[in-house]
Amino acid sequence: MYLHTKALVLRETTYKESDKILTLLTQEAGRLDCSARGCRRQGSPLAAGCQLLVWSDMVLSQHRGRWTVKELAVDREFRGMREDLVKFALGCYLAQVTETLAVEGLPSRELLALLLNSLHALDRLPYPPQQVKAAFELRVLCLSGYQPWLEDCPQCGTQQPEQPRFHLQDGALHCASCPMGEGESLPLTPGVLAAMRHIVYGDPKRLFSFHLDQEGLALLGQVCQAYLLTQLERGFSTLDFYQSLVIYPTHS
Ligand SMILES: [Zn+2]
Repeated sequence: MYLHTKALVLRETTYKESDKILTLLTQEAGRLDCSARGCRRQGSPLAAGCQLLVWSDMVLSQHRGRWTVKELAVDREFRGMREDLVKFALGCYLAQVTETLAVEGLPSRELLALLLNSLHALDRLPYPPQQVKAAFELRVLCLSGYQPWLEDCPQCGTQQPEQPRFHLQDGALHCASCPMGEGESLPLTPGVLAAMRHIVYGDPKRLFSFHLDQEGLALLGQVCQAYLLTQLERGFSTLDFYQSLVIYPTHS
């Protein structure tokens, strides 16, 4: 059985002398593991497309339940992202989150589009990496059944709390004076709340089109990351690496 699909490499593991095992996010079949035989051999026509975060047109074949890459043509390498260590590290984190949330064998056009748009933004658009990161984190949760409640305070019904907070466990906006159940809640500002509403309820094509100052962006980043880690109940090695670069930049 053959499958002709567009695919992005979410993870690569070297295998034997010249092979790789890849985790792909495919347009036709969702997440899929496959082997790429000989792709590490010099001059292999598969080499370029079997690297992390490369988007290609692929022909895969299946034999006894295992997929193998037969042919590929690279479509996007996202070079602008690849050549910047911080951006590439962030791309790897977005890929690891996607791998966690993507369902094997079940295609999701929205999830694929979100990841590709985020990589495109890191590659070519002038948004700060933290802005892409926060928007991706909140949006990917919405696509995976963790859409937060941001319309009003569930306790008193006000749509614009004077001192807005966000409850991480319940995924809900509330006022500082309207306490929620157990668990941590983080303070927001009206600007950060507006940005969160834009990300959750806005047009996905304009996902990154919001403006916050440096302080607002840092707060948005803190809230979105904490919400993702709370809901998914796990850490990410790629996030730790990204943060080590951002907190201790080598170029300063
Ligand atoms: Zn309230």
